[in-house]
Amino acid sequence: MPNKKRNRKLAIMDEHEGWKLRVYHKKGSGKKSPRFLVKCGCCDSSIEIFYSKTHIEINGVHASLNEWRELLIPLLNGEVDFGDELREDDI
Ligand SMILES: [Zn+2]
Repeated sequence: MPNKKRNRKLAIMDEHEGWKLRVYHKKGSGKKSPRFLVKCGCCDSSIEIFYSKTHIEINGVHASLNEWRELLIPLLNGEVDFGDELREDDI
């Protein structure tokens, strides 16, 4: 992980007119995996992301890297068809 300086200030706009995430990192210790604490840029909402070389846990949801890749990469690349509305039973 590159040692990029991360935002920790509230209400900082990003270049796409959204709020910058506030990102904190904690090293692992003993049996505890390293984690990111990601806070909303406008309020106290947050998610915890624990990670290892093979798995990621996001807010208590634990899966392999491949599972997360399948879900998140298309989403992050804007490749999800937003015209298709999800039904409750699809979720
Ligand atoms: Zn917020």
